[in-house]
Amino acid sequence: MATGTENVSSAGPARVRHREPEAHDLSTAHLKLIPPAKELRLKIRLEAVRVAANLDRSRPLTKELLRGHAEQLMRAAGLPPGYLGFTMVAISNEFWREQFMAVDFKRRLLLLPHCLKHSETCPADYDAAGLNCTGCGGCVIADFKLTADELGYKVLVAEGTPAMLKVLTCGEVDAVLGIACLNALERAFDKVLKVGVPSLAVPLLSNDCAATTVDIDWVNEAVKLRATAAPKRTRTYLPLLRAANEMFADSQLNALAPRSRGATTADATDPIAATESLGYDWIATGGKRFRPFITLAAYDAMNGGKNVRPADMSTPVELPAAVRRVAMAMEVFHKASLLHDDIEDDDTYRYGRETLHRRHGVPTAINVGDYLIGLGYRLVSREAKALGAEAVTDILERLSQAHEKLAEGQGAELFWRDGGNKEIKPLDALKIYALKTAPAFEAALYAGMRLAGPAAAHEPLIAEFSRNLGVAYQIINDLEDWDGDDDNKLVRGQDVLSARPTLLLALALETATPAQKRELHEILGDKEKCECAIHRVRQIYASHQVFEQAETMVRKYRERCETVANGTTPDALRELLTFFVNTMLERDLPPLPAGQ
Ligand code: SF4
Repeated sequence: MATGTENVSSAGPARVRHREPEAHDLSTAHLKLIPPAKELRLKIRLEAVRVAANLDRSRPLTKELLRGHAEQLMRAAGLPPGYLGFTMVAISNEFWREQFMAVDFKRRLLLLPHCLKHSETCPADYDAAGLNCTGCGGCVIADFKLTADELGYKVLVAEGTPAMLKVLTCGEVDAVLGIACLNALERAFDKVLKVGVPSLAVPLLSNDCAATTVDIDWVNEAVKLRATAAPKRTRTYLPLLRAANEMFADSQLNALAPRSRGATTADATDPIAATESLGYDWIATGGKRFRPFITLAAYDAMNGGKNVRPADMSTPVELPAAVRRVAMAMEVFHKASLLHDDIEDDDTYRYGRETLHRRHGVPTAINVGDYLIGLGYRLVSREAKALGAEAVTDILERLSQAHEKLAEGQGAELFWRDGGNKEIKPLDALKIYALKTAPAFEAALYAGMRLAGPAAAHEPLIAEFSRNLGVAYQIINDLEDWDGDDDNKLVRGQDVLSARPTLLLALALETATPAQKRELHEILGDKEKCECAIHRVRQIYASHQVFEQAETMVRKYRERCETVANGTTPDALRELLTFFVNTMLERDLPPLPAGQ
């Protein structure tokens, strides 16, 4: 039932790989040049100070706004378009500079790329957290790390967003200084900016993936920046994201959802306690916790959005235990669906570990999934006293509807995958997406709003927003399957490998020649698909402008979401829906041609 975006299809997090540039990196490479002269880099940074002085700092900058300001600066300064990425980083740095400076050194993260090391001589090993620099002095990493360590920074030498997001959502740090190439900054670091974490970035001097260099003076200056005066601080959803994450730490998990059998991980071999033990272990493992966040944030928005605040405020968020339990149920249902999904697709890895059915067998994994469904419903139903029977009934009704729709969507996909007829029309693919992706989001959003009070008047907007958001999100997921999603997947064209009925395939089949159709059907039916088959599917998709058509559809669904969000009250809910659009539907798209 899940979309599979959190699936790690290789040998775990510690595995280090050379990252091939993604198609998306290549298509925007001409906008990511680094000014070769230090004087020009300084000039752009000074211009950025002037631009940032007038920016509204009450909420995080969106990528669109940042890009608009950068283009204006470049026009005024007569800079070539190639410096767009660099100029955006310079303005973003100035937007956050004062707030970054006000964060204590001990609450900051320095994120370094391992491509700065000398790969031939570096003696350091990797573990799940990244490269363990021994400080041999063979490259600048040792110097940067020493300075930052002495000041009290948490230092990671790691690639990509997951490691960084993990420390942020665990509440270990409140500000980030990231050194990365413009490709990585575009892909990953701006997710952090969007969430609203005070962040500075120093771009590497090239976008190559090995033996890179960086402006050492710039890094040293940024590491030492410090001020005690509190600037005007940007409101952010990070406290609520952290609250959603913290619910699954042992102490809160056991307090909010006490174990009936009192089972611990060690009891996994006790037949009576084993199911509970495996179930709790599974819900405590991995995941972005985005579904519980939706519920918490929706509840908070309907109560004035008082927990949307600067990331470094130390007071805990105020949320009743009953609200947290309902939010927890959203994650529990999601985890149950992932278990069943992994069995249906016979996936090998999830969150960097072997999938549960591979470790304990299919029957046990099915049973743990069933147990979690029961636990999810119980987390809601037992709150009747605290929340009122009517609210609980409404939420349970919405959850059971979501369950049915998800199963129908997943069922449609399985019937298609395992049946003989490999025809599919774009409308059918979109129907499956609406069933598979929207209901979980809709249930989480509805639950949060219903927890705050009667929600009947909001039901049409919840349904419309969720449907459009879910479909757009799934199309982006399909497109990213061809980019090679660095956060989750190591292989491109996974959807073809697993013969999924995607919109991209449906669009291709609509206009393909009879010979191409035959070829696509043969590739999909082949159980042992080779790399060349994936390449051929990509060629066929490209020759029918399938990727462009899909991107146009994303834009249209996104516009519908924005229209719904813009017409929503109260303000805090409108801001939250806009946040969902900006975070979930982020994809750099070429401008929409007139008339589309
Ligand atoms: S300083 Fe650290 S990262 Fe650089 S070569 Fe030595 S051990 Fe490797």
